[in-house]
Order: sequence, then C-alpha cells, then structure tokens
Amino acid sequence: MNKHISVNQLNRVGPAMVGKLKRLGINTTQDLLQWYPFRYEDFRQIMPIKSLSDGLVATVQGRVELIRNKRSFRKRKMITEALISDDSGSIRVIWFNQPFIIKNLQPGDMVNFSGKVKSDMLGLQFVNPIYELANTTKTAHTARLVPIYPLTHGITQKQMRALIKQVLALNIKMTDWLSIEYINTYNLIDLDTAIKNIHFPESVEDLALAEERLKFEELFVPQLQSELIKLKNFQLKSPKISFQENEIKKFVAELPFQLTASQKISAWEILKDLTQDNPMNRLLSGDVGSGKTVVAALALLNVALNGYQGVIMAPTEILARQHFDTLYKLLGEKFSLALLTGSDYLVFGQNIKIELDWSKNKKQKYLLELIANGQIQIIVGTHALLSDKLMFNDVGLVVVDEQHRFGVEQRKKIKDKTKKVEAHYLSMTATPIPRSLALMIYGDLNVSVINELPANRKPVITRLVEPHNRHKAYGFIREQVNKGGQIFVVCPLIDNENHKQEMTESMEEDVVFSKVQYSPLNEQKTVMGEYDKLSKQIFPDMKIGYLHGKMKSVEKNEIMNKFKNKQLDILISTSVIEVGVDIPEATVMMIEGAERFGLAQLHQFRGRVGRNDKQSYCLVFTDSNSEKSISRLKYFESIKDGFSLAEKDLATRGPGEVYGVTQSGLMNFRLAKLSDITIINKARSLAKKIAPNLDQTPLAKKLLVDWLAQVHLE
Ligand code: ADP
Ligand code: MG
Repeated sequence: MNKHISVNQLNRVGPAMVGKLKRLGINTTQDLLQWYPFRYEDFRQIMPIKSLSDGLVATVQGRVELIRNKRSFRKRKMITEALISDDSGSIRVIWFNQPFIIKNLQPGDMVNFSGKVKSDMLGLQFVNPIYELANTTKTAHTARLVPIYPLTHGITQKQMRALIKQVLALNIKMTDWLSIEYINTYNLIDLDTAIKNIHFPESVEDLALAEERLKFEELFVPQLQSELIKLKNFQLKSPKISFQENEIKKFVAELPFQLTASQKISAWEILKDLTQDNPMNRLLSGDVGSGKTVVAALALLNVALNGYQGVIMAPTEILARQHFDTLYKLLGEKFSLALLTGSDYLVFGQNIKIELDWSKNKKQKYLLELIANGQIQIIVGTHALLSDKLMFNDVGLVVVDEQHRFGVEQRKKIKDKTKKVEAHYLSMTATPIPRSLALMIYGDLNVSVINELPANRKPVITRLVEPHNRHKAYGFIREQVNKGGQIFVVCPLIDNENHKQEMTESMEEDVVFSKVQYSPLNEQKTVMGEYDKLSKQIFPDMKIGYLHGKMKSVEKNEIMNKFKNKQLDILISTSVIEVGVDIPEATVMMIEGAERFGLAQLHQFRGRVGRNDKQSYCLVFTDSNSEKSISRLKYFESIKDGFSLAEKDLATRGPGEVYGVTQSGLMNFRLAKLSDITIINKARSLAKKIAPNLDQTPLAKKLLVDWLAQVHLE
C-alpha cells in the first residue's frame, strides 16, 4: 500500500511549485487530495463541430489540421491560431499569449477542446479553449465534468488538475474510519471513492455521492465533540435549584409589564433545567429589545432564593453598569449585589459597608472577600470577573450576556470560577441564530428562543439619508426632541487623533470594516467633531453629551445617568453603546459613517431605539460612494428583523465572523454548508451513537483528536 508523500516528490514539482502550493497550505499528497474543487465545468458532451453556434460553451473532439503563432495586428499580443476538424466540419481556434501551445499540439493530433464559441466576421471560432489530447484514457480537463479549484497566483487550473490526477494515480488508500456497517446504515460511499469522485466525477450522481460523504465527514466531527461535552456534562453535579413559585409569581406580577409568551416559555425552560442536578447549558436567543434581561433576572432571583450566588457577565462596562442598576432595582431589597469592572466596584447590601476613606486596594480586597465567602448573592461585571484574584463561593448560575462577544476560553473560564459546585450556565445573544447553525456551533447547548418583541413596540423606521438632506434630518431631530424624544448619534471615531484607540470596547467586527473603508482623505465623522458642530452650530439650545471608550468609567456613568434621567437630549457616542444599552425614551438613532459598521452591528445600534410604545427612527448616513456600501445600507434599510440580517451577514462574512467562533475553527468547512440539514442530522445521529463508547471506534477518535489539534492551532 502506498503512503502519502510530500509534494516535492511528485513529478514536475520543483521548488517554485512547492512554494506556491505551500501558500495554499498544501504540503503533502494528502493535502492535495483534500483540496476540493469549488465548482465544475460541465464539458461532458462532445458535440459535432457542425452543431456549434455562437455563445455556446461546448466540447468538440477533432484533428489539428494546422497550428501556428503570429503577432496580433497591433503587434502587442502573441496569437496562436489553429484549425481543427471532425467528420462534420471544421472550426478555427485562437489563443492569446500562450505561444507554447504549438509545442503541445501538432498537426494530426486528436484533441478535445472545451470552451466558449464566438462568432466574428469570418464565422465561428473557439477563443482560449482548454485543450487536451484525446487519446489519453481518462481526460482531466475536457469532455467531462471538469473540476475548478481555488488557486493562488502562479498555479493554473490545468496544473492543479494534473497534480491531483498524478496523486490519484498513485492509488494511496485513505484509512476509512467509517465501518462498512455505518457506511451502509447511512447510505454513504467509502472514502477513497469519494475522494476520487470529488475531483473527477464520471457523472453528476457520482459527484453528489462524493459530496455527501465528504460533507458528512466535516459535519460529523464537531458534533461528536458536542456529544462528548454533553455526556461529560451529564456526569457533573450541580445544585438543584428548586422553583420558588410564590416569590417568582410575585416578581412577575410586580413587573411594570406583562411578559411575552416566549419570555414565559424561555423562563420556564430555564427554571426547569435549574431543578436538575446536572448543569444547565442553555443559550437564550432573542432579537435586540426582545427582553432577555428580565428572563435572566428571574433565573438569578430563583438561584439567590435557593441560597446560591448568581453571576452575570457583560461585554462592556456600560452594559454591566446597566445590568447592575436593573438588578438592583428588581432584587436589591432582598439581596446583596456587587458590580466589578476594570475600573469600578460597587456593592450594595445589608451589613456591608465601605468607608469613603478606604483606598482602592482596600475596597477591592474587601469586595473580593465578600464574594468569596458568599455574603454577596448577585455579582455583575465585565471581563474583570475573569481576574485570577476573584473566586466565587457557591455559584448556582453563571449568565453571560451578548455571549458572541466573548471567546470560547473566556466563556469557559467564567464557568469554571466556582470552587464548590458546578454552576448552571446560561448564555444570551441578540444575534439570532439559524437552527442548523445552532446545532453545529452549540450542539452541546439547549436553545431557548424569544421570537417576538413586547406587544407595545412599533417597528423602527429606517432611512438612508442622502447628504443633501442632512439639514432636513436635523430639523426632524429638533421636532423629536421637542416632543420629548431623545437622540443617539453614533460616530465611527472618537477624534482625529484617536483612530487606533477608539475601538477599545468594540470588537473585531468594527476593525474589519474600518480597515476596509478607512481613507484619510475622506473626512471621517468623529464624536468630538460632531459634538462641536451640534452643540455650537446646529442645536446650541439643546443639552448634548458625548461618550466614548477612552473616558473614565465615572465619567461614562455620569453621562449615561444624565441621559437616562433625561438631563440630556442628545448623546453622541462611538460604538460603545452598541450592545445592550437600554434607554426607553430614545426615539432616534442617527448613525454617521454607517459604511464602517457591519450589518449585525447596525442592527444592534438600531435596537437602542424603539424600546417603548413611541414610533422610533433610525437615520443612516454615509460618506461612501461605493456601490457595494450603498447597496448594503439599502438592504439594512429594507430589513427589519435581526434574523434576516444575520442570515445575510452569515452569507457574506461567514459564521466565524458573525458568531465569534473564528478562533474555535469550528466552521472551517470546505464543502459542507449550514443548509445541509439532512447530512447534519445524519452526522448527528452517528455522533450520538458513537460518543458513549468512543474507545471502541479508535479511528473516529483519531479523527476527533486530529481535528481538535488543528482547531487548537488556529
Ligand atoms: P434585550 O433582549 O435586547 O437584552 P432588554 O432586556 O434590554 O432587551 O429589554 C428591552 C426593554 O424592554 C427594557 O426596557 C425592558 O424593561 C423592556 N421589556 C422587557 N420585557 C418586556 C415586556 N414583556 N413588555 C414590555 N417591555 C419589556
Ligand atoms: Mg441585552
């Protein structure tokens, strides 16, 4: 049996080619075999030359009658001309700038030509067709389904095909981890056949079978991993959090609103999980403004009533502070609460007193002590909660808000920060997640969905405002303020000096978009610039404030409080207000430099308004003339729900970017798509079967181990 070898041992692969292949990540023959085509040209049918017509993409087989090189009319291009004929007729062939072709094709050769037929003054001709000698037993480039590969500069399709054909001819057997039994159960084909047919399928049917097997491969491994996590979870012991019916009912009755049906269902699902003695692992997914916080609060209350600590982690200081305030309002009478962010600690509770003259250090130490010995029941914070100094006492529940903003490691770390018991875990996200994707990324999680907004909400009216209508927009803002509305203005930058720093609190997404769009020539809207302009020229009579990530947290709090208490009409901000911020009286979200933000992010901004029964508006501005930017913003204007936007984002940027799983490498599929539901389900079913006794299928185990190693590297 032949073994895989490094590519430099192949014929016609010199150091230059090795280098080019390396750039694609191809080092061995196995890598080549797993370099799948991304599409196929259908050149199967060989047509008589006589039946060709203008515009047709076709293959013919004919004899080369004559072939020669000549200079083009303007002497710039080298042209290779040939005449070929079959029994039915003849046709001219022309190639540009490939003079070497006359070395490959001689008069008298029988050759396949695949390509497009065009018509000129002299009749029909093939322009730049792919050619291949017809006497080879199996063709690679013509007269078949021809694979088209992803390439890098300096490698041609023809070279790649030839390389892969060469490797296939070596007949190296892949070790198939799937037993014949499972291959039959799941109606799949064996791995070697699949590899062969993904490259050079003899028929569309063969290709479909090959694709199915190889997609199965890709979709199986992450699901196996999820199943293992799930099984492990089953063995962990968590505190049973009993349902405190009376208190919970009272809490719900005292809310200033009625819970929506899906809030109730989600809360019920969570409370039920908590009563189990193995840890809950649940994702609460709901569009911006759907009211996830109150569901989390309810769970935290139930946990605290059972005598356990509850923790909630948020991605920004502003959001953590807001959660703290909300929870304090809802639960502060009964429980002690603490807030921990990078620069801020607060604590409220009976018998807990921090003297004014204490140093920062002393305060922090005291607070950490209170948390570690269980005197504080509800702990709210940012990444600061991950500090090694902090240990919880007996945490019953960990909630991670806007979980896609945290990395896998961070999510794990917060969960593991409890010494006595294994905490239940609830994560929340406003980026709605298609079910198939949820299964793939979060296969080990159960998902609750809030699929409706509170009944009183009116959809936010979104308008992409053309530059010449800017003054009208300002007039509109004035009207809104006069009616008691409040206005957000979001700018991409803090000021002209702080291009780099301004993104401190926002994530990769912002950076990706600003890298693409940033041009120093184009004047960018900045928080400080707009503050200057609006407070001096446009609305000198109004109360205007600004907010950005470089400000001290005391200042940020002060501004947020002022805005919340309606002491400010307009708040100009960077994307620090992107997630979670809840100011129900805000009715206008004005976004400057909108081309620099991702769709999901724009939707988050828009979600800052429309949070009560008033009609709200989102005014979108852009300085970009790029057609692509404009059409993306037009799309944003037309689509109201986060779900569609997430799907569009998913299509253009991929799940890694949208759901923050890039670093987990989970989504690096070569063939599989999230729409391959049937295969996902098949793979899932096998993963379930194999996971409990993985040691009995060592090959599947190895597959997982290799995958984890690769995922870990990224
Ligand atoms: P998100 O799901 O985006 O985190 P929040 O939890 O911040 O949403 O809730 C948005 C706003 O809606 C808050 O002001 C909250 O008090 C309010 N809210 C939550 N549930 C309801 C409801 N059922 N009816 C009316 N308002 C609600
Ligand atoms: Mg929220």
